Amino acid sequence: MRERVITLEPVHIGIDDTDSLSGGCTTYICALLVEHITSMGGVFQDYPNLVRLNPNVPWKTRGNGALCLRVLIDAEWVAELEELVIDTVEKNSVLSDPSTDPGIIFYGGGIHPELCSFTRMATTRVVDIEQARSLISRFHMDSVTLKGERGLIGALAAVGGLQDGDYTFELIAYRRPENRGKTRKVSRDSILCMDKRTHPRTFNNIDGETGRILITPRGPDPILYGIRGESPESVLEAYNMLEPLEEIERWAIFRTNQGTDCHLMEVKTIREVDPYQSIAAQGWVNSSPRTIPGGHVIFSLRDGSGEVDCAAYEPTGGFRNIVRTLIPGDYLQVYGGVRPPTDSFSKTVNLEKVRVLELASDVVTANPHCPSCMKRMKSMGRGQGFRCERCGMRLPLASKVHVSMPRTMRASLYIPPPRAHRHLTKPLSRYGLEKNGGSVQPHGTWHCP
Ligand SMILES: [Zn+2]
Repeated sequence: MRERVITLEPVHIGIDDTDSLSGGCTTYICALLVEHITSMGGVFQDYPNLVRLNPNVPWKTRGNGALCLRVLIDAEWVAELEELVIDTVEKNSVLSDPSTDPGIIFYGGGIHPELCSFTRMATTRVVDIEQARSLISRFHMDSVTLKGERGLIGALAAVGGLQDGDYTFELIAYRRPENRGKTRKVSRDSILCMDKRTHPRTFNNIDGETGRILITPRGPDPILYGIRGESPESVLEAYNMLEPLEEIERWAIFRTNQGTDCHLMEVKTIREVDPYQSIAAQGWVNSSPRTIPGGHVIFSLRDGSGEVDCAAYEPTGGFRNIVRTLIPGDYLQVYGGVRPPTDSFSKTVNLEKVRVLELASDVVTANPHCPSCMKRMKSMGRGQGFRCERCGMRLPLASKVHVSMPRTMRASLYIPPPRAHRHLTKPLSRYGLEKNGGSVQPHGTWHCP
């Protein structure tokens, strides 16, 4: 009897939009699939990829995260693998939610630069289903939808998301079904201790400003906690330090673009700032920051091409105090998602961070000092000059002087506290730890290296 020669075939499996605000979680479906596929003899080419997409798109999906599993499997098992994936997605999606439109893509080819470009677009701006459909057909991908087609956008973006720029890891631990929806139980002391001992190899465990624990999400999804970090080893080390007070059903480690700023697209001029994009733009502060009802702080930024409002919203906490000290003439780089104009507000950049590049001098006009006793003089009336109240000296021809006030702010990078971060926002603690150099892409570089 001759032994069969096993041919391993690559399969990229992209999955998106299986969850809803009322529960479910695409990462959980992937954690289940990893176990099933391993038992079928599948060999993983990478950690499951968790690809966060543009957080500023006008429609929902909680974290806007899509997933890709990259597997080598016996060619004879490919059909069975596809069936398993579809079945698992169907059983674990929240299909009752009208806005949940699960999409699955199976692809056996190489990841062409055009697929990477699509991912890049889906990360920084709005893409439509037509663009996704045309790539799916051009590259002869198998696509499956269970309801509407929206999930195909994320599924395709996940397949093209090789994450060969900067990347991080997240270890996600899942709850047993009977605990879902109840208060999450993890020893707070163990989280504080883990944070202290693994910083900065893990990040955003705790919000420094409020002490709020950030690894445990809110809501009915099956996640007990997620630990973000620089390497699989660091998140696993952190996992071993935590004391959960309820049983963990399973856990998985994902490689992800979280905490990398890869959603921010550098625009050359303020005129190019369009709604729903995530951008980085430079300009001068044009109006003094003002606090509006609700505690939001707003100022206008301009360059030669135009101007745009920038807002530090109330949830950014102490970050607003920094923004309030900006003055007209300060030169900044601003980073954030662009909100479209509404009846009461113009187009606004929702600030995720601000880099102060150059401080304007804060010049005020004041009465001159008395040349004899150095006391600040009193005005004798408009155009009448000044008089010293202490020694009586008069300077009838003197005029007001310009005084440069000291600035409390420094030219530096300012980021809101972690509780206000988007999944993709690079926290301060990650600066200097980037892999493959950098994150914010210059405009127009859509292709992969
Ligand atoms: Zn005097």
